[in-house]
Amino acid sequence: MKRTYNFNAGPSALPFSVLQEVQAELLDFRGTGMSVMELSHRSKDYDAVHNHAKALLYKLMAIPENYEVLFLQGGASLQFAMIPMNLLSQGKTANYILTGSWSEKALKEAEKLGNTFIGGSSEDKNYSYIPALDQLQIENDHAYVHITSNNTIFGTQWHQFPDTNGVPLVADMSSDILSRPLDVSRFGLIYAGAQKNLGPAGVTVVIINRDLLANIPEQLPTMLKYSTHADSNSLYNTPPTFAIYMLSKVLEWVDQSGGVEAIAEQNQVKAEMLYDAIDQSNGFYCGHAEQASRSLMNVTFTLADKELEAEFLQQAKAEGFVGINGHRSVGGCRASIYNAVPVEAVEALRDFMLKFKAKN
Ligand SMILES: *Cc1c(COP(=O)(O)O)cnc(C)c1O
Repeated sequence: MKRTYNFNAGPSALPFSVLQEVQAELLDFRGTGMSVMELSHRSKDYDAVHNHAKALLYKLMAIPENYEVLFLQGGASLQFAMIPMNLLSQGKTANYILTGSWSEKALKEAEKLGNTFIGGSSEDKNYSYIPALDQLQIENDHAYVHITSNNTIFGTQWHQFPDTNGVPLVADMSSDILSRPLDVSRFGLIYAGAQKNLGPAGVTVVIINRDLLANIPEQLPTMLKYSTHADSNSLYNTPPTFAIYMLSKVLEWVDQSGGVEAIAEQNQVKAEMLYDAIDQSNGFYCGHAEQASRSLMNVTFTLADKELEAEFLQQAKAEGFVGINGHRSVGGCRASIYNAVPVEAVEALRDFMLKFKAKN
């Protein structure tokens, strides 16, 4: 068997050891004589998996006790709607900072549901930077401020977070959750689809300050209320049990790898390899993001020569690098180097980039 160098943007690489463990347990989960997929979500065996995943997330992200961790479905995209449904009360305004396609999509859902305001944007330069914190417009009576902490498509990342002066800060962390240490207490709500850094598609993690559960409109459909899921330990209906089991395995792997600090150091090393190759190429490779806003998760670049770019992508594919094509809305190249992408894969890509440049 040969594993490819997987640079997919999402769903993306999972730790190999996790896949092996899951394979070993697939037919008989811990002596139950059933696959974890066949367990009742009301059984004590499943309950242990569910609560273990939750406890590990609290531990690894140092989530304070006044926050609730929810396991939902519908992806980050459903959160684009659930956030304004739950947190944008009538007459209030929600503040969206636009840093790419995902923040635009989040804004679009909020516009259908209430008043919105754009407190900052980097659209003027094709989302190649994160707006300066002191340029953001935030009013004390805003319902919340929404940011996208890592812009998967454009390859930019917030390296500092705005001080919102008591206004809840809401962050879409789908593509950088658990990639670096974070002070959760600065956020009102954090959400992330699992399929980039946490596990397979199918579960969405929401971390919410319990204060925000107090004012949820009563008339919302039951499944769309955060309070329903908070009150039932995310077991109001059948949760995506297999995805949550996979999440628990990925979290164990992060824990065994030395936790978020150790993972963050490794992420830094991986990203530097590729950014150095870009910066030392005398313009052969051009990074999309401004240096101060560069993402450690998604490295976006183009080749100055468009014909060579096509050849680069073709040869990369032939050499076994998967997922290097840029997003269809931006073009160029993108290497997604999430937590589970091994250093060796990034080294191999860096070496390929250097070799390709030398030859051309
Ligand atoms: C992938 C991604 C999404 C979309 O997630 P779905 O789970 O497919 O809805 C949203 N936001 C960001 C930042 C993403 O990277």
